[in-house]
Amino acid sequence: MAELDVKKSVKAQNDEIAEKNREIFRKSGALVVNLMGSPGAGKTTLLEHVLPRLAKKLNVAVIEGDVATDNDAKRIAKTGVTALQIETGGACHLDATMIGKRLGEVNVEKLDLLLIENVGNLVCPAGFDLGEDLRIVVLSLPEGDDKPEKYPAAFLRADWVALTKTDLAPYVGADIGRMKESLARINPMAKAFCCAFQKGEYEDGGLSDGLIRLAEAKRK
Ligand code: MG
Ligand code: ZN
Repeated sequence: MAELDVKKSVKAQNDEIAEKNREIFRKSGALVVNLMGSPGAGKTTLLEHVLPRLAKKLNVAVIEGDVATDNDAKRIAKTGVTALQIETGGACHLDATMIGKRLGEVNVEKLDLLLIENVGNLVCPAGFDLGEDLRIVVLSLPEGDDKPEKYPAAFLRADWVALTKTDLAPYVGADIGRMKESLARINPMAKAFCCAFQKGEYEDGGLSDGLIRLAEAKRK
């Protein structure tokens, strides 16, 4: 029982700070996306490819969450987009306090879109509201087409799901149709985008257009 109480208060505290973050984002008119998925799902690769498209229309910044290293922030910075690294030093998810503390560094009042790449982990990031408007889970086909049903919490609260590495279907024994069915059983409302290389080009299945539309609708 005592353990349950502690858990509850951690969650309640996080929710309170997430609401404060959300109020800051509401005032600034910035659309905020919490991007989650397993290590190696292709979250940073997806960002590298959609950021140039987004940056043509929007003032955008990225916060990278990792247990260690600033490798991903360096990769993002190469696209020309402002990238801030949060190294959690062991924590396996970002929380609302970590985000709130660093908002000054991304010039949040000037932003149209803030993309937060969570720590690679398909389990607990889903339990921590950061104050975001939109949750996108990145799921790669090589992880297996049954993952939505095996890790329901992440998908239950996803607004959108980016299905990546779908071009590897012939090599990994996983099926995109079965993956979509698994997702639909857990969350029929989640919109799926196929994000993968096709004939040498990275296709995002309309993901960047969707983000531009939502960010323009919230922009002040
Ligand atoms: Mg990454
Ligand atoms: Zn965690």
